[in-house]
Amino acid sequence: MKIACSSCRYIGESINLAKGSRRKEVFLWCCLLLPGLLYTLWRQSSDGRYPGCPQCESSNIRALKRREWKHFQKTGQLPE
Ligand SMILES: [Zn+2]
Repeated sequence: MKIACSSCRYIGESINLAKGSRRKEVFLWCCLLLPGLLYTLWRQSSDGRYPGCPQCESSNIRALKRREWKHFQKTGQLPE
């Protein structure tokens, strides 16, 4: 998906970011094995993922329409 990031003004392909935090995952794994496993599975499922900016990992993005992306490729700018 092509996106425009409103945080760092990145424009291009989005990446899938995992919800939740790695630290919480490790913590759960250390203390409680089963919740840790479930948490990991949840983060890796499509449910626990969301498209985000590869540069600043923000989810504060806007999906670009095909027309907008074409315009950007041609001119290097987004249509107003
Ligand atoms: Zn960004």
